Amino acid sequence: MTDFTRTRALFDLPAGVVYLDGNSLGPLPKGVAERVSRTVRDEWGAMLIRGWNDADWIGLPERVGDRIARLVGAPKGTVMAGDSTSVNLFKVLTAALSVAGTRRVVLSDSGNFPNDLYVAQEAVRALGMGYELKIAAPEAIERTIDETVAVLMLTEVDYRTGRLHDMKSLTEKAHKAGAIAVWDLCHSAGALPIDLDGADADFAIGCGYKYLNGGPGAPAFIYCKPEWAKRAAPALGGWMGHAEPFAFDLQYRPGDGITRMRVGTPPILSMAALDAALDVWDGVDMKAVRARSIELSECFIREVEARCSRLELASPRDPSRRGSQVSFRFKHGYETMQALIAAGVIGDFRAPDIMRFGFTPLYLGMDDVLTAVDRLEDVMKRRLWEEPAYAVRAKVT
Ligand SMILES: *Cc1c(COP(=O)(O)O)cnc(C)c1O
Repeated sequence: MTDFTRTRALFDLPAGVVYLDGNSLGPLPKGVAERVSRTVRDEWGAMLIRGWNDADWIGLPERVGDRIARLVGAPKGTVMAGDSTSVNLFKVLTAALSVAGTRRVVLSDSGNFPNDLYVAQEAVRALGMGYELKIAAPEAIERTIDETVAVLMLTEVDYRTGRLHDMKSLTEKAHKAGAIAVWDLCHSAGALPIDLDGADADFAIGCGYKYLNGGPGAPAFIYCKPEWAKRAAPALGGWMGHAEPFAFDLQYRPGDGITRMRVGTPPILSMAALDAALDVWDGVDMKAVRARSIELSECFIREVEARCSRLELASPRDPSRRGSQVSFRFKHGYETMQALIAAGVIGDFRAPDIMRFGFTPLYLGMDDVLTAVDRLEDVMKRRLWEEPAYAVRAKVT
């Protein structure tokens, strides 16, 4: 049993705020500030360069990776924390292509986060050699996988609608066609049970600052199936991925296992923050998180549809086809979200018309869901989206 009253007490949320944006930036867990300040003072300050050995900074990416591994159904030693999601995507995509033989097609879908498509477009351009990115509609992905596909590159949970791809069956389909499966778990890790090992995924990446609460710009993570970790060659190498970084050989020789997915020096302060943030997951069962997230989101949908008739559900209605977020369409979604934020309910907006709400049982209860709908109903009734102040667009939406 997971005790959500206990986990809720582990977070520092501002009073009066209902936070429905943990899918974009997780809130601050209580132990993080103290841990970062200890790392700064007692390690960096007191140990100086000796911290790399004495505090084992050098092993932190793997140690943090092993803690994330439990949350994504990966064996120990197959996950590493570090770099950004985008950089990790470039690494796994080029690593996957390096073991994919003579095929040249990377297949993804139009519901993918555009960033991932940009990374793929630029990766195939940089590799040259006839590689190309093919984009199909999410519903058409399954039938588009054929024997021309080298790599299937998908994000499990759609960033806008929350639509959930079936990782196991699509990976199986890819393997049957002789392709390699790369999964982006940005909106899945910490949101729902994931079984990378059971699904036989080849490579995966995910975010440290969303459901894992590692803080703005936290290190991301990267997974590589042991079989590929022996021979995959990402097109980004650096001394930390070398078999012997301190031999200072002139020739690059990738290290064993997940080590070869490292590139440069890890950001120890951010890594310490992420490591401390992961404490909140100790003793948490992802199945319980999933069950609770479905209860919260079902209640939210039911109440919003009953009380805010202008909003149209953009997420799959079937909770088993959804991640841990719920989205509604509304023409004035941006302004409405600004008004809602001003009323103390923080969600976010994705162009052109999606209001997005994330449900994170570790620190959200049914009371929060009902408060959020009360305030949303009030915004809708009073047509607050018409206030000019809410139409001003900030750089980050
Ligand atoms: C959040 C997110 C990213 C973020 O990538 P960064 O490198 O951290 O900017 C990438 N892909 C997906 C699908 C995301 O949801």
